[in-house]
Amino acid sequence: MTDGVTIVGAGIVGICCAAYLAEAGRSVTVIDRTGVCEETSSGNAAALAFSDVLPLAQKGMIRQVPKWLADPLGPLAIPPAYMPRLLPWLWRFWRASGAGYYEASLAAQASLMRLAEAEWMGLMDRSGTRPMLREDGSLELYEGEAEFEASLPGWQAREKHGVAFRHLAGHELPDYQPGLAKNFTHGTFVPGWKTVADPQLLGKALWAYAERKGARFRPGRVEGLAQEAGRPVLRLADGSAIAAETVVIAAGAWSHFLTRQAGDRIPLETERGYNTTLPKDAFELKRQLIFSGHGFVITPLETGIRVGGAVELGGLDRPPNYARSKAMLEKARRFLPGLKTEGGREWMGYRPSLPDSLPVIGRAGAMRNVSYAFGHGHLGLTQAAGTGRLVRDLVLGQPAVIDMTPFDPFRF
Ligand SMILES: Cc1cc2nc3c(=O)[nH]c(=O)nc-3n(C[C@H](O)[C@H](O)[C@H](O)COP(=O)(O)OP(=O)(O)OC[C@H]3O[C@@H](n4cnc5c(N)ncnc54)[C@H](O)[C@@H]3O)c2cc1C
Repeated sequence: MTDGVTIVGAGIVGICCAAYLAEAGRSVTVIDRTGVCEETSSGNAAALAFSDVLPLAQKGMIRQVPKWLADPLGPLAIPPAYMPRLLPWLWRFWRASGAGYYEASLAAQASLMRLAEAEWMGLMDRSGTRPMLREDGSLELYEGEAEFEASLPGWQAREKHGVAFRHLAGHELPDYQPGLAKNFTHGTFVPGWKTVADPQLLGKALWAYAERKGARFRPGRVEGLAQEAGRPVLRLADGSAIAAETVVIAAGAWSHFLTRQAGDRIPLETERGYNTTLPKDAFELKRQLIFSGHGFVITPLETGIRVGGAVELGGLDRPPNYARSKAMLEKARRFLPGLKTEGGREWMGYRPSLPDSLPVIGRAGAMRNVSYAFGHGHLGLTQAAGTGRLVRDLVLGQPAVIDMTPFDPFRF
């Protein structure tokens, strides 16, 4: 039996929830089957993408789907055998692109991003991790007038939510990134876009801070969640049980296995993503480069140059297809002709994704002392500190600082 809060999942979301709750003086235990920041949160593209407020389900994006699916190693893939399982999620995704839903998701995303940015800066200062922040903005690149023009409605929508950016003509691009291939005719520079030195190093440093505040780690695979004598009880694969005062499920793309045991069915899917981390001297990169038309980014890290992205809606069990990492690396070599592509490390991660691109943050249905914090999709690193703040307030019974309705676990 523990008196405090038990968090399932030591990804960046669970770590931030632990840090906030430990700061508030709660006794915090985090359980994970692999370790601290060892899964999806370890290898992502390191962006604090506070300006990335557009939900994925948007008409412009959906129009690109047939073209993307036609390329087996392109930005989007759906293994045919997985399609039947995916259909209900895809239906909800398509519905989320409808005008009313889309505008509501955009406003909700923007409000969570404003909170996320303020909370990240505060948490980094308190934890001493601010030196891991890079504030050199991002450069989005377009191959031709048509691609640039197609991006403009999205930039107008972002502008309405206070996102600052500057469109660039082709001749200005070398000032922002020397060494680009000549096929890029336009760019957009986003000064407020930030990245971190390395997402795994940041996660581990934040965990060290949470530990200094009293949080404890317990290795273990949680297999069961039930309510006994008014308390949530977690059953572990080693046969042990933990009865906690409060449980937070922050188990990323695997969270729905546990919510089901609490009686809650939540349409969580995984968007698998791939990358290759090259040695640090692979290229002189000034900032994160974004190739939206090709669904990948190139990020300068303290630990290397990371090339990757893509979406594969292929579930949790299928083996990785690293041909996807190789295809993006080959494109990167064409876009940055001087890029040295040898000596890279390939990786795949499982984005935990809900159809409307918003996370689930809120209480379970019947088990009111169980809370959910998962489903951040492409933005889990970006939104982790904001989520930590919201979960802390939820657990402490304090009023939320933003409207929580859009993140309600039962909105679908
Ligand atoms: C290629 C790629 C690039 C990305 N780039 C960015 C980016 O630049 N910026 C950004 O903001 N986001 C990015 N993301 C998304 C981001 O990585 C995720 O949203 C985020 O890592 C999710 O964090 P999490 O803590 O929810 O999940 P995870 O990091 O997956 O952590 C969940 C943890 O729960 C544990 N767990 C699960 N089930 C159990 C169980 N039953 N018992 C015990 N432990 C369990 C797992 O072991 C895991 O450690 C990217 C993702 C990918 C794949």
